[in-house]
Amino acid sequence: MFFLLCFSWIRQGLFLVLRDFQGLTQVIIPQDEAHSHVKELLSNAPLESVVRVTGTVSPRPSGQENPKMPTGDIEVKAETAEILNSCKKLPFEIKDFIKKSEALRMQYRYLDLRSCRLQSALRLRSRVVMRMREYLCNLHGFVDVETPTLFKRTPGGAKEFLVPSREVGKFYSLPQSPQQFKQLLMVGGMDRYFQVARCYRDEGSRPDRQPEFTQIDIEMSFVDQAGIQRLIEGLLQHSWPEERGSIMTPFPSMTYEEALADYGTDKPDTRFGMKIVDISDVLRGSNIHFVQNALSYPHGSIRAICIPQGVRYLTNKDLGSLKESAKSQFNQEIMEIICRPDGSLKSLLTKFLGEKEQSELIRALNMEEGDVVLLAAGEHKQVCSALGALRLLSANLLEAAGLALRDPTAFHFLWVVDFPLFLPKAENPTELESAHHPFTAPHPSDVSLLYSDPTKVRSQHYDLVLNGNEVGGGSIRIHSAEQQRFVLEKVLKEDSEVLSHLIEALEFGAPPHGGIALGLDRLISLIVDAPSIRDVIAFPKSFRGRDLMGNAPDYVTPEELEPYHIQVSWPLEEKEAKKN
Ligand code: ASP
Repeated sequence: MFFLLCFSWIRQGLFLVLRDFQGLTQVIIPQDEAHSHVKELLSNAPLESVVRVTGTVSPRPSGQENPKMPTGDIEVKAETAEILNSCKKLPFEIKDFIKKSEALRMQYRYLDLRSCRLQSALRLRSRVVMRMREYLCNLHGFVDVETPTLFKRTPGGAKEFLVPSREVGKFYSLPQSPQQFKQLLMVGGMDRYFQVARCYRDEGSRPDRQPEFTQIDIEMSFVDQAGIQRLIEGLLQHSWPEERGSIMTPFPSMTYEEALADYGTDKPDTRFGMKIVDISDVLRGSNIHFVQNALSYPHGSIRAICIPQGVRYLTNKDLGSLKESAKSQFNQEIMEIICRPDGSLKSLLTKFLGEKEQSELIRALNMEEGDVVLLAAGEHKQVCSALGALRLLSANLLEAAGLALRDPTAFHFLWVVDFPLFLPKAENPTELESAHHPFTAPHPSDVSLLYSDPTKVRSQHYDLVLNGNEVGGGSIRIHSAEQQRFVLEKVLKEDSEVLSHLIEALEFGAPPHGGIALGLDRLISLIVDAPSIRDVIAFPKSFRGRDLMGNAPDYVTPEELEPYHIQVSWPLEEKEAKKN
């Protein structure tokens, strides 16, 4: 006898396919008179209804097996059937291959959740988290502690959501991360903390960001950078889904300076080469105006990337759009050099270069026939950032044109270390902001620079990068109250009063400590190769931060606002729009 409780899926007269949480099973609809009511019921059941079928499991007749289906060797001969609940007309078909708009899928998220894609992503996510808990709590003595989500504003960093309170003019903030609490737990002697933590950032609409997201949040006392790194490598190895192959540890490591110089970014995609090459020395002797001009500046540099077989795979339009994007995004001019089939170079530059310089250029860039080189001259960071972006764009173009550049099944983890502790603020470069957050400790060899030239201080901040995406970040923390106060007040020019509770806590014998947070949504989306983090979150928000199913955020009445002493001042157009 066989019993199934599930949704009917495909119906083709003689059989139907039932789906439950484990997969699909083919059911044979009886055709004999004695079972006419079963036939009638199953043939007329609307798609996606919940039906209960009992029957006999038997092997499929020889030659009718379906090797693509895990249950393809058997079928169920139905004897009784019952519709437990029928399904009304669907807004879209529950089949992965049928395209539907994301807005419609989000409006009916509970239906989209029935798709194989979301089912397997969420089930894999649950398995990974379970293994992480097991590794941290059972194997390494971590304590799973929940921290508040109603708190107060943290200075610096991302914008926080405000929550009104009943006290006049007072608001809670939803924390961007449990950063302060996890440090306070260390002061409280909870020396190995972990949490699957919900975090909030009100960053407006940004592609592939969510206003609420989940971190695997970790903090430890008496640990150094290497200690955290080895812990995370072990954690990922332990929780890595078997079907995605195994991951090798320890992960390679690269300094921030190297990442910027070789890949033009602090999150390099190391699955392919095309590294940025410094050709300043090759061109230094040439009589080219823009080269000499760039090299006359203190951080001037000439760099280039070599696109393998660019002549074959990139059209003139592609090259034009690459140059255009360097111009519009980085205000950076790009010069191109092509290696002809006979090995000679074609470029506006060649007439200024002697034979020796040309062959040095070919050697430095490892150029082969059919390669295209993109060259940039200017300030080091700008040149590297522009070429780093072009490296990724051209990789996408090469792949779209059919060149297999990156192995889609490869997972390249990388630690990026030795970040600067502070960076100039984008809007006002004379002021400094934390590269990670204000609690990050300076590199032990740079501590004295903190007081003399903070711009030169490296930090004990480390990022974990996977296939060119930041999947984690953390640091060893400042545990001296005096140093923490100095950083906040003197370097960052923040009001340290807002953090007086944390600074005071450091004065009560805080142990040295450090930690990290892994972005769970991003990590899972990379593991399952989902195009967006929304594909691994059960109920995500839209691009604009809206819940399209429940329609949040929503209006509330003036009466509901009263206890909070809040009144909405409506912009005129919105008032009109609301009326209609
Ligand atoms: N709280 C940090 C973040 O959310 C991570 C850390 O420093 O542990 O990025």
